[in-house]
Amino acid sequence: MISYTGEMFSPIKRAMECGFTIHHLSMPCAHCSQDATHHLLYLDGVLQTSGSPINVEDYADATQIYESVCYDCYTTAIQAAYA
Ligand SMILES: [Zn+2]
Repeated sequence: MISYTGEMFSPIKRAMECGFTIHHLSMPCAHCSQDATHHLLYLDGVLQTSGSPINVEDYADATQIYESVCYDCYTTAIQAAYA
């Protein structure tokens, strides 16, 4: 799975570097019927695309919305945010 920054979650990356087999768990995209592979993070309605891994406690006063989405919906959201 890919984080809201567009990068692989570091524990998954490390497990693959160590030779572990990663099994994909099928989960539907929040916006369509494809498999979710990426995440979107909105803080107070603003799409976040960079930064360090988020500790939800750091943003306890913000409205946090995480969405699991497919690659197509991820790129569509990113393009719309920077259009
Ligand atoms: Zn989708």
